Amino acid sequence: MIEDTNTDRTEISGLGEFGLIDHLTKEIKIVNSSTVKGVGDDAAVIDNTGFQTLVSVDLLVEGVHFDLSYTPLRHLGYKAAAVNISDIAAMNGTARQMVVGIALSNRFSLEAVEEIYEGIRMACARYKVDLVGGDTTSSKSGLFLSVTVIGQAKTEDICYRSGANTGDLLCVSGDLGSAYMGLLLLEREKAVFKANPQAQPDLEGHDYVLERQLKPEPRADMVQILRDANLKPTSMIDISDGLASEILHLCKASETGCQIYEDKLPFDPTTLNLAEEFNMIPAIAALNGGEDYELLFTVSQSDFEKVRKIDGISIIGHMTANIGQAHMVTNDGQVIELTAQGWDALKKN
Ligand code: ADP
Ligand code: MG
Repeated sequence: MIEDTNTDRTEISGLGEFGLIDHLTKEIKIVNSSTVKGVGDDAAVIDNTGFQTLVSVDLLVEGVHFDLSYTPLRHLGYKAAAVNISDIAAMNGTARQMVVGIALSNRFSLEAVEEIYEGIRMACARYKVDLVGGDTTSSKSGLFLSVTVIGQAKTEDICYRSGANTGDLLCVSGDLGSAYMGLLLLEREKAVFKANPQAQPDLEGHDYVLERQLKPEPRADMVQILRDANLKPTSMIDISDGLASEILHLCKASETGCQIYEDKLPFDPTTLNLAEEFNMIPAIAALNGGEDYELLFTVSQSDFEKVRKIDGISIIGHMTANIGQAHMVTNDGQVIELTAQGWDALKKN
């Protein structure tokens, strides 16, 4: 995990808005040839000749989307950038530029903003994205963080939610449910701490699920892996809200249905152990938990051999002709309807 090491406090008011912007952006180096002009003018300039431009934005609000009592600021910055890069990957494109809007109350020091920016910069460096602009302002209460990412893709490579056909195989990268297990763990320790501020958090040995919750990695690598395998999904979406909700998005946009199999869902062993500890069925964490930021996509049946050969992709079901309806065959052979609101028919008693 990334540790927060900054303990000094410098008031932002001493720097002023322009001083702060300078401070946060002076080290930025441009790495993409499509970035013609970054920070420092009235607008950034991007040259996407030969490509279509992909744009996505996320707005994060303190107390609604994150809880600073257990989210280190650097992780917050990293995650804000990462989830946007994930949206570009979900279109089968490559993220190239980012703009960041930030509103801060005077509760936040310069060191705190630096931590957020350090996280944003780490994600940008890792995924080769240029930070080309933003806006900085004050807020009467709390922290607001708005991240816009700009990506590119060849017209013929873009994957929409709407391209799935009846009979297509439904595939997912990586494993599911771990980010939700990380959240449950953090919430549990927060409750323990509230009841007894002397208590030490018991997070030992849970690095994997905690990182999945606090520092998710977008599957930009999958875009390259699929390309190398000469495999273009017929539809794709990233898993931010939980598998059930994302499946229903694909079904609705593609005018298909879907059937998945509980025993095909991919889990990390640590997720399975924690599910046991929380007395929860792992499939529930996968279907309703969300924030796994894996890619969910469909491929034509004729691509079965290609997809089977790729490590780290699971085929979990197929698309059906039941427009808008998604079902899961459970381990004990029941057929359960998937709903986006939540699915608790199998909750352990
Ligand atoms: P304007 O008044 O034209 O909006 P600003 O003074 O807000 O310009 O910003 C000056 C430059 O600094 C612009 O290039 C802008 O994109 C960039 N910028 C402002 N805030 C941020 C930020 N939080 N992160 C990155 N770049 C920023
Ligand atoms: Mg501005």
